[in-house]
Formats: sequence, structure tokens, C-alpha cells
Amino acid sequence: MSAIKTLPKREDVPTELTWDLTTIYPTDDAWEQDYQAVVTLADQLPAIQKDLGASARDLSNGLDQYFDLYRKLEKVYVYSSLKHNQDNNNTTYQALNQRASALLAQVGAKLAFFEPAILAIPEAQLNQFINENSNLKVYRHYLETLTATRAHILDEASEKLLAGASDIFEGSADTFNILNDVDLPFPVIKDERDQDTQLSQGVYGRLIESTDRAVRQNAFKQLYKVYGQFRNTLAATLSNYVKMHNYQAQVHHYDSARAAALGANQIPETVYETLVKLVNKNLPLLHRYVALRKKILGVDELHMYDMYTPLTGKPSLTYTYPEAKAEVLNATAVLGHEYTSIVEEAYANRWIDVVENQGKTSGAYSGGMYDTNPFILLNWQDNLNNLYTLVHEMGHSVHSYYSHHNQPYVYGDYAIFVAEIASTTNENLLTDYLLKQQTDPKTRAYILNYYLDGFKGTIFRQTQFAEFEHFLHTEAAKGQPLTAQSLSDYYAELNQRYYGPAVVNDPEIALEWSRIPHFYYNYYVYQYATGFAAATTLSDKIVNGNATDRQAYLNYLKSGSSKDPITIMQGAGVDMTQPAYLEKAFQVFETRLNELEKLLTD
Ligand SMILES: [Zn+2]
Repeated sequence: MSAIKTLPKREDVPTELTWDLTTIYPTDDAWEQDYQAVVTLADQLPAIQKDLGASARDLSNGLDQYFDLYRKLEKVYVYSSLKHNQDNNNTTYQALNQRASALLAQVGAKLAFFEPAILAIPEAQLNQFINENSNLKVYRHYLETLTATRAHILDEASEKLLAGASDIFEGSADTFNILNDVDLPFPVIKDERDQDTQLSQGVYGRLIESTDRAVRQNAFKQLYKVYGQFRNTLAATLSNYVKMHNYQAQVHHYDSARAAALGANQIPETVYETLVKLVNKNLPLLHRYVALRKKILGVDELHMYDMYTPLTGKPSLTYTYPEAKAEVLNATAVLGHEYTSIVEEAYANRWIDVVENQGKTSGAYSGGMYDTNPFILLNWQDNLNNLYTLVHEMGHSVHSYYSHHNQPYVYGDYAIFVAEIASTTNENLLTDYLLKQQTDPKTRAYILNYYLDGFKGTIFRQTQFAEFEHFLHTEAAKGQPLTAQSLSDYYAELNQRYYGPAVVNDPEIALEWSRIPHFYYNYYVYQYATGFAAATTLSDKIVNGNATDRQAYLNYLKSGSSKDPITIMQGAGVDMTQPAYLEKAFQVFETRLNELEKLLTD
């Protein structure tokens, strides 16, 4: 009988492997005091702020109070959430986190008047306020960003009607999520050890990577059989959701749902169009990678269920946590002493919660807020993937650290569009470093494939999703019905175009649209692709460029949200409205594909 490895209890984890949350609040009592302070402030604020537009001073004071309140609230929330995540079974911190979440919602409702009240100030008057009050100059970018949406904001009564129906507008996404996560009747199937396993989203994710072909084929067929039975319902939920986006965009005077979604984040539509165009131009590279996969797997026919099984076996590299810490320093050394000194501070001052324990949140993330240091949650295992996770989360944490230390609170957070660029650039620096260190062909093949698989899943696959999403919205806008048949027909064609002639177009894959939660995110997925490409280009500039390139990159990390995302990335050295940064990324892909082809077929 083999011994079952049990996870340690939270209290048995060595202190040096836990994060130090006493730097946020020394005691839970201190947290309680801030919680009560937020409650009081949130009650007072609406009354104090009714004269927001009366004078520059009123506006200035109002903004200060509004952001001070959010700053305290964020700290209250972050402490409760980190405490809760370290052991989800702990009822004390379950309660604290629930109270903080409820407070967040209450304050949001109480302060909903705030931005409309600013927009009620006529534009000329607002500009005059900014010019005459020195404290308001800090808020200039915030106020200008808000003001830019003026043309898309309806009168108060109309906005109130729409806001009141916001839950109803989300109805079809709620239906999809319930169906997808809970109600779909997935069967019991055989896993790799020939054991009966209840198929679920998580189990599918594991089995589709199986090295046993019969197992992954069966998982694929059984999963899509279920989606196929519900295809008409799933087409209806998706179609309704798309129509909702189109309706919202139309009533808010946008030309399209895409213009509305991207406009809300200050991203021009050319960013989206350039991505789709360049990815299509470079699809032959994906076709080559797919053909290589077919060759290495040695199959007569390559099917869509062969797309996720590892090509290069198990990695020959293992890392203990102390070794991984050293490798992160080595890989990021190219960014200079200041950067690595922040990484060292993270190690020395216990920013990282390292090992798994009973009840701990799975996966990994970087968290924290403006008045705390960044924190990293890990579930450490001694392998290369975990080294990548550490370097990735460290990328987020150092980005937060730099932005918090160089920007006022109002710009201390960065936009989603730029967030993954800092973490993925670090992953690329690690890839580059490892390829310089490792000479063993098997190890090199593993690292190269790790990169190429990430590129395939992020740039190619997410752009495929982005194209499909745009097709949905434009068809619906033309009044075309989105039926299960029309969606599947388009998806099958799109999938064949992306993966190319080496793969058999299995009929099941035509239904993939029906199970992707991201199609309910409203023009979100393209950012994964643009971010990964920008990171590839930036890491290339950091490694092969000069001191100015490296300084430009560090300036981006320090920018927070003080400018719009495109301007920030232009400053870092990538113009995401132009094709060049994508061309560069595809060049790197091709160079690495060339080497992998050589390594695996020689
Ligand atoms: Zn990330």
C-alpha cells in the first residue's frame, strides 16, 4: 500500500514559507477599525459631495475624499481576501472576507452618483476648474478620460433605466454559466488507469493532454456529444448576449459593439484589426507547427484531440524553490540592479506564500494594493512550470511595486490591456536565459516547445476566438439569425483555416464555440494575443537592444494608468496600432520553430 501524502495544516507551514500579512494590519482589530472607518465615511460622503460642481475647491475636496475612501476600502478588502485564500476552511477569515465583499458592493452603490455628478459639470467649466486649482492638476488625466465618454452617456433618467435592468441584460450569460458549470449531464468515462471518472471541465482539461490516444479521443467525443445535445440552447444564450452588446452600443451612440467595448478602455479598433490581419498572414507558421506535431506523434491522421498532448515528454529539469528563486534573479538580471533588488526584497520580506496547505486557494496570483507591498500566492512544485509561474507572478508584482512607488493613488493600478505584458515579458526573459544555459537537446526541445505551445494557445487561438466573436456581433447587427447550424458552419471553416491541412477537421470541433466562457466577455480575448506578442517583442529589445530600450521598458512599469494604454506601450517601445511588433513576434516564433524542427527530426 502506498502512503497517501497529506497536505500540511496552515498552522504547520514554516513561517519563512508564508507571506507576512502583519505588514498590512498588525492585528485583526486594526482591520476592524479601518472597516468601521470606511462604513462611517461611506455614509457621510454623499451628503458632503452634493455640491461637487459648485467650485474648483469643492471638486478637488470631493475627489480627494472619494479616492481616500476607496484606498482604505481596498486595503480592508485585500487583507481579508489574502487571509481567506491562505486557508479557505478558516471560518474567521471566511467571515471577514464576506464582510469586506459586502462592504465593497455597498460602497459602490452609495457612490454610484459620483462620476455622473462630475459629468454634470459643463466641459468648459470643468476645464476652468482644472486650470485654476493646483490640486486638480493631479486628476487631469482621470477627468479627461471620464470626459471623453460624454458623447456616449445618456440623460440621467435613461441611464437609470438601463442600470436598473443590468441584471436582466446579464441573463443569458448567467444561463450559460449555470448550464456549463452545473447542469450539463456529462457522462462517466474511463481515465488513463482505466478507472471510471466523472467527466467535467477540469477532468476534460487533464484527459485531453493524455499521452494515451484512446483516452483523449474518448474524452473529446464524449464531451462534444453532450454539447451537441444542447447546441440550440447554447446558440440561443450566445445570440441573446451578442444582441445585448449590440443594443447597448447602439443606444450609447457607438458605431458597433466593438467600438463600444474597445472605446471603454481607450483602445482604437485598428489594434484589433491589425492583430487579425497579421495573424492570418502568418497562419502558415501555425500550419508548419501542426505538421511537425503530426510527424512527432507519428500518426496517420492528426485529429483535434491530438493538439494538447505533450510533444516532448516530461521535462528533464527540476528546480527546488531556492534554486528557482536564484534562476528568477539570473533571468531578470538583464533589467538591471534596481529591478533585481526589488525581487530580492520580495524574498527577504516574505511577500510570497510558497507551499500548498490544506484549504489554500489553488493556482497562483499576484495581489496587494497601493499601501501594501505586492504579494504572491503559489502552490510550489519542484518543476520548470513552477519556475515559469514564479517569474510570471514576479513580473506582475514588480510592475505593481514600480507603479505604486511612482504614481499617485488615482493612477496606481494598471489597465488590463497592459497587465499581462509585464508578466509575459518575464517569461520570455526566462526562456531566453534558459536557451543560453541549456545545451542538452532534449532540454532545449522542451523549452522551445513550451514557448511555441504558449504562442499557439495565446496568439493563434485567442485571435481565432476574436475573429469568431466579431463575426457573431457583425452578423447579428445585420439582422442575420445566429443558429447552431450557422455558428457551427462558420466555426468549422475558421478552425480549418487556422490549423491548416495537416489536421482532420473533426465534426465535433465545429461545436467548440458552444463551450467557451470567454465569448460572454465582450471583446476581451484579443488582449491575450496582443499582450503575448508585445511581450515577445519587448523581451527581444531588452536582451538584444541597448540601455535606452531597457529604460523605456522600466518606464512602462512605472506608469500605472497615468496615460492611456496605447501611449504607455508606445513609450515602452511597441506601437500596438502598427504591425511591426507582431511581425517581430512571428519572427521569434519562426526561429524557435526552425530549431525545434531540427532537434526533433534530425
Ligand atoms: Zn498573469
